[in-house]
Amino acid sequence: MGFPRLLIDLAKLETNARWVTDLCRRHGVSVFGVTKACCGDPEVGGAMLRGGVGGLADSRLINLRRLKEAGIKAPLLLLRSPMPSEIPAVVQLAGMSLNSDPGVIRELDRQARQQGVLHRAILMVDLGDLREGVWPDRVLELVREVHSLEEHARDYATGVRLAGLGTNFACFGGVVPSLPALGGLAELAGRCRREVGVDMPVLSGGNSTSLHLLAEGAWQPGINHLRVGESILLGYDLVSRRPFAGMHQDAFLLEAEVIETERKPSVPTGEIGFDAFGNRPHFEDRGLRQRAIVALGKQDLGAGHVMPEEAGVEVVGASSDHLILDVTAAAGPVRVGDRLRFRPDYGAILGACTSPYVEKITF
Ligand SMILES: *Cc1c(COP(=O)(O)O)cnc(C)c1O
Repeated sequence: MGFPRLLIDLAKLETNARWVTDLCRRHGVSVFGVTKACCGDPEVGGAMLRGGVGGLADSRLINLRRLKEAGIKAPLLLLRSPMPSEIPAVVQLAGMSLNSDPGVIRELDRQARQQGVLHRAILMVDLGDLREGVWPDRVLELVREVHSLEEHARDYATGVRLAGLGTNFACFGGVVPSLPALGGLAELAGRCRREVGVDMPVLSGGNSTSLHLLAEGAWQPGINHLRVGESILLGYDLVSRRPFAGMHQDAFLLEAEVIETERKPSVPTGEIGFDAFGNRPHFEDRGLRQRAIVALGKQDLGAGHVMPEEAGVEVVGASSDHLILDVTAAAGPVRVGDRLRFRPDYGAILGACTSPYVEKITF
């Protein structure tokens, strides 16, 4: 197909996954690898599994189907509370899902019994990030409500079992995971066990942002599961924004082709209104600069950003289909037809994997 293309180094992803699973194992934590940024790419999922994750998780059913149809036999977890319209397919495709609505759990149970399968529901608790999850003071009430289903499922091995509790951090409110918050989750699970009599074997303590606690050697006993995507993909501690030593930060590279080079002033000529996206741009006058345009844009990057691999190349901005670079300080001349490489951030991986205009090359 050609350019732009996303190069995905599976060996580096495997190493990153192993780094995460080794760290987690030392604290009794098992890991599900999250494939949603890569649209459930089975090769990415396969690399995570080789790196030791116990299963794969994705927020979209269509991605779980893609993994399953590629022959992946590992446990699959739906990361987003099921849409009522997709419940029959959820039960068919995923052994487990994250949940926060009792009506949905009841319908999962009905469908699972109908299909003669067991589905495990993890009840999400909102510890303050204000995305999904029931508020902590409602957890016991809700667990009591679905407890009768739990008993049927335990005895007949069809229907819904309450696999445990889960929580999520730093997705909407930017709340950083902490030992007290995880302690609160463990305590709630303890009350469910004592006061309602459910086992709650899985306590899922968040996403990549929880790794910083483990890396510091601190953990809440009893929290035994994490769902990790971004840190495996990019090798970063998302809380400090620093690389984890021993992980790869360049498992993904975007390669795009230069289509124009020209010397231009750094400030536009004429009255400045709005750009293509309704923003009013601001420019610093740096005099005449050597610029280059590569055929890559917001349609390929979504809300994400890229960092040039080459020293002396700076991203000035992007429109739908043009990425504008300042190459004045580049070591050598940049010419039309040159292929430049960039490191995508999480948003850009998501955008590139979702864009039909970007070729994905795994190696
Ligand atoms: C996306 C997602 C994750 C994974 O988050 P990362 O930051 O990529 O590790 C975990 N849990 C839920 C519920 C998610 O939606």
